[in-house]
Amino acid sequence: MYKEDTIAAIATPPGEGGVAIIRISGLDAEKIAVKIFAHAQGENGQLKSHRLYHGDIRDPSSGRVYDEVLLTIMRKPRSYTGEDVVEIHCHGGAFLVRKLLGLVLAHGARQAEPGEFTKRAFLNGRMDLSQAEAVLDLIRARTDKATELALTQASGELSKWIDQLREELLDILVQVEAAIDFPEEEIELLQRHLLIRNVDELRQKLLDIINTYEWGRIFRDGAKVCVCGRPNVGKSSLVNALLGEERVIVTPVPGTTRDVIEESINLDGLPVAIWDTAGICETDDPVERIGVNLSKQYLEKADVVLVVFDGSAPLTLEDEAVLQSAVAKKIMIVVNKDDLPRNIAVDAIEKFFASNGISFVSAKMNHGISELKKNLRELLLGTEAEPSIVITNLRHKNALVRGEEALRRAVTTLGEGGASEFVAVDLNETREALEDVIGRVTNDNILERIFSNFCVGK
Ligand code: GDP
Repeated sequence: MYKEDTIAAIATPPGEGGVAIIRISGLDAEKIAVKIFAHAQGENGQLKSHRLYHGDIRDPSSGRVYDEVLLTIMRKPRSYTGEDVVEIHCHGGAFLVRKLLGLVLAHGARQAEPGEFTKRAFLNGRMDLSQAEAVLDLIRARTDKATELALTQASGELSKWIDQLREELLDILVQVEAAIDFPEEEIELLQRHLLIRNVDELRQKLLDIINTYEWGRIFRDGAKVCVCGRPNVGKSSLVNALLGEERVIVTPVPGTTRDVIEESINLDGLPVAIWDTAGICETDDPVERIGVNLSKQYLEKADVVLVVFDGSAPLTLEDEAVLQSAVAKKIMIVVNKDDLPRNIAVDAIEKFFASNGISFVSAKMNHGISELKKNLRELLLGTEAEPSIVITNLRHKNALVRGEEALRRAVTTLGEGGASEFVAVDLNETREALEDVIGRVTNDNILERIFSNFCVGK
């Protein structure tokens, strides 16, 4: 599983830049550096760890100088990978940096696979699996909040929480296993009640963190909001009003003559993609039908659907069809054109969605838009209060759900006076699920899958 050879890659993104970095890690990292790096202290001067040296990279066989660089060596274990690491900071020319990497490879390093540096850091115990995954999240973060969440996880907050829960679980497991080893001391009734309470408390803690996933996912990946309504109710005007000054990206999503337009807004730090759909109505026109089907697909993918009505006109059958098509989703009802006399039967809409309330706005006059944004944010996040620990990764969520289900079974078995052996099996299942999150025991396939998502050089 652990390869001992020396790996190298370009750690900076492709293209031209002021500086590019080549990273080398492994047993021969320093040996390779010494061969190709000439610096002022003389070619054989011993390089000190964690210092930056100025010098030339040159081909030792021809003596040709390739570039003037800064080079640092970080001897193990105080390095990112836990191995000897060398970084060469060269000029950021796309051709030049590849040439330098070629020289490094020619002197004994192997081209690193995607994520291989971070994988080595994990295998060397420099970080656990959830921290390694957070490094990837950090690289991919698109907002302030996503960066903050990734950094918190990378610093080991989630791992600490998992470790603590695991300790609590082990305490309970010890009691249950004692009852297996000494059957004459089968769990007493009183003790059983206590056990049930403790296991259930643990289960609740798992459940609480599982419930933060939606919150974390939405901050990490952004939320998706679909705007639908019959033609002319003011969908495009509403999207424009929502964009306001914050207009960031305009991307037509191609595919049909009736496109779905994607816009991005930032709702107080929450990235939201807004899809302005062609409208969802029954039609015989084959071209329009393509557009309508496309709109339906977007509606399916959305976290929240904004159903827009024209408040100045009575409800039509088309309006009702739109409502029906969105009925399975999280919905916000928006009655637009509220600057005009109200002719819409509000109670007829409320019959459908009494609980959510209705936002009355005027896209044209920009009335009610900031309130709408606030309500939308609340509906997307479920809660305004930020949880102290947040999970953002589906793999973690799935493992924790597995653990929570096992605890639920354990509570049932304990309640029914079942054998301690069965309880122990379920508690052990939870222990394994917790260990999966931090990667205490993980098989090669899972590691391959996780690290192949990284870029080369990380
Ligand atoms: P869509 O087909 O649903 O995207 O609707 P549009 O955004 O293209 O708007 C249709 C018509 O309604 C346009 O003439 C808009 O100027 C008008 N409109 C949109 N919002 C309002 C509003 O809040 N008040 C008034 N009075 N007219 C509006």
